[in-house]
Amino acid sequence: MTAGVDELEALLPQTQCRQCGHAGCAPYAAALITDDAPIDACIPGGPVLVAALAAMLGRNGPRCRGDGALLEPPAALARIREAECIGCVKCLDVCPVDALVGAARQVHTVIAAQCTGCALCLPPCPVDCIELVPAAVERPMHGAAERSFAAVTRARAAARSRRLAAGRRSEGPELVDLAGHDGADLRAAVDAAVRRARTRHPGSRPA
Ligand code: SF4
Ligand code: SF4
Ligand code: SF4
Repeated sequence: MTAGVDELEALLPQTQCRQCGHAGCAPYAAALITDDAPIDACIPGGPVLVAALAAMLGRNGPRCRGDGALLEPPAALARIREAECIGCVKCLDVCPVDALVGAARQVHTVIAAQCTGCALCLPPCPVDCIELVPAAVERPMHGAAERSFAAVTRARAAARSRRLAAGRRSEGPELVDLAGHDGADLRAAVDAAVRRARTRHPGSRPA
């Protein structure tokens, strides 16, 4: 079966978390075709996605990574401890779906309904006041009925990409560039930020 990039992208979870080593779901979908990227790179997609990609791309079974582990993380979203936020706006530029609102020297907040829980906003925060908390509502990654959140997120990510391509950034004075990180490097940065936040706030809830 010959699959197009749009069809492949529609299968992806749309968390835009970059754990696949690409700058979002759309670039990963493109790489699946143009670069023959491995089909098991998307952590949130898990084995269901691997099977779907294998069928759509006509590959002879998934290319499993060394440990064979494909985990679906618990649904999570970011939360800002607003009393600690210094309004530096560094988180605004990294959110792939514009789920953060704020302005310079103002307290920032997360729009919970739009947050994918990608955790990309944690590393840039200089005071580690962003944490991941369990989402109140489960967000299944698979199944036609559950894809509405992913569809909205995909549209938000695309709109953000168009805005950035047009040279319009968010309001922050400083663009925090995460593009140079690959998946493992970025994950390490996120994990380190989570550890820092937990060290500073041992009573905070685990993601
Ligand atoms: S790992 Fe994240 S960015 Fe990459 S395809 Fe999966 S959900 Fe999208
Ligand atoms: S607010 Fe943070 S965790 Fe939520 S989508 Fe944006 S960058 Fe990801
Ligand atoms: S990066 Fe942290 S301190 Fe800076 S605006 Fe965002 S939440 Fe506030």
